[in-house]
Amino acid sequence: MILPKANRLTPEQLAEVTRVVTEFDCRIQPIIGAVRTIYAIVGDERDELMINRLEGLPYIERIDRIQSPFKLMDRRSDLASHRITIGGVTLGEDLLVIAGQCTIDPKNPGFFHETAEAVKEAGAHVLRGGVWKPRTNPYTFQGDTKSLDVLMEAHRHTGLPVDVEVMDEHHVGLALDAGAHVLQVGARNALNYSLLRAIGRAVAERDTVVLLKRGLHMGPLNEFISAAEYIVSFGNPNVILCPRGTAPALDGYRNHPDESITPLLKEKTWAPVVVDPSHSVGRSVFVPACALAAVAYGADGLCIETHVEPAKGIGDDPKQAITPAVLAETIAQARQVWALRHHAGVS
Ligand code: PEP
Ligand code: MN
Repeated sequence: MILPKANRLTPEQLAEVTRVVTEFDCRIQPIIGAVRTIYAIVGDERDELMINRLEGLPYIERIDRIQSPFKLMDRRSDLASHRITIGGVTLGEDLLVIAGQCTIDPKNPGFFHETAEAVKEAGAHVLRGGVWKPRTNPYTFQGDTKSLDVLMEAHRHTGLPVDVEVMDEHHVGLALDAGAHVLQVGARNALNYSLLRAIGRAVAERDTVVLLKRGLHMGPLNEFISAAEYIVSFGNPNVILCPRGTAPALDGYRNHPDESITPLLKEKTWAPVVVDPSHSVGRSVFVPACALAAVAYGADGLCIETHVEPAKGIGDDPKQAITPAVLAETIAQARQVWALRHHAGVS
C-alpha cells in the first residue's frame, strides 16, 4: 500500500508509480478515503526491488506492507482513519439507525410510506425497504421491481437515504440507477464473490455505502472481513459489516444471535459494525433486548425491521418487525447504552 506525502498523487506521479509496479506484474488501485487517497498495490507486492524503487520516489511517504489476509480492511491499514457518513451520521461518532420494512408490499405501498414517515419521526437515519427478496421457499413472494419506485418515492418524501438488498448484478444496476444510497448484501449472498466483485466495480466511483451481512453459517471473522475486502479493493471504502445471527438457530430464536461478535471484529478491522437484531432473534418481542445488547457490545449502529402495522405486512414483518413506537423507545434506550459505553471508555 502506497502512502503519498500529499493527500493524493498527481496524475503524473500516479502514471510513474503505475509504470514501476507494472514492471513487476502488479497494478495500482486508488482507494479514495474521506481525508486522503491511498494506493493499493494489487498483485504480489513482496518484490524488494519494486518496494525500493517506490520508496525512492520523492513524493512517497512510505510503503505499508502489513501482513494480513485483508490488508485494506485491517485495523492497522491506513484506511483506518476513513469515516463513513450516511443520513447525517458519521459512524463511530453517533449511533446510526437504519429502519423500515423487511419487504415493501407492491399491492399496499401506502403502508411503506406510512412506515417511512414514522421511522423518520422515531429517529431513524436511513430507510430500509426490501424490493427483491431472498426466500427459502420458491413459491412465496419473491419481491417486485415495482417496489423500487415506492422506495425512491419514500426517499423523496422523507429525505432519508435508502437501503435496498441486491441479489444479482441486474439489481445492482437498477438500484444504483434509481439512486439508492445503501446496497445491502444479504446473508445468503455474503460469500457470493462474483456479486461482491460486481458491487465493488459498480460502486467504485460513487459514494454509495454497502451494508454487508454476515453469512448464514457460523463463519470465522476473517471470512467476513475478507468479503468486505472484495468490495473495497475496487476503490470505495464505504463498507459496513452487519452481524445478523447465524445458523444453526438457537432453539427459540430464528438464528443464533451473534451481536457479541462486534468487539472481536473491532480487534481486527476498522470497519464499522451495524447489527441487525431483527433477523438475529426473529421475534419482535426480543428485538429491543438484542438491539441494546448489540450496542453494549460496541455496535456503531442498528438495522431494525419496523412496520406501522406488522400484522398486515409481508415477508418477515408479521413475525419480527417492531412498531415505530417501540423503535423510538429502543433508540432512546440504545442511546443511553451508547453513552454508558463511552463513559466507561469502551468505544
Ligand atoms: C433482510 O434484511 O430482510 C434479509 C433478508 O436479511 P438477511 O440477508 O440477513 O436474511
Ligand atoms: Mn427480513
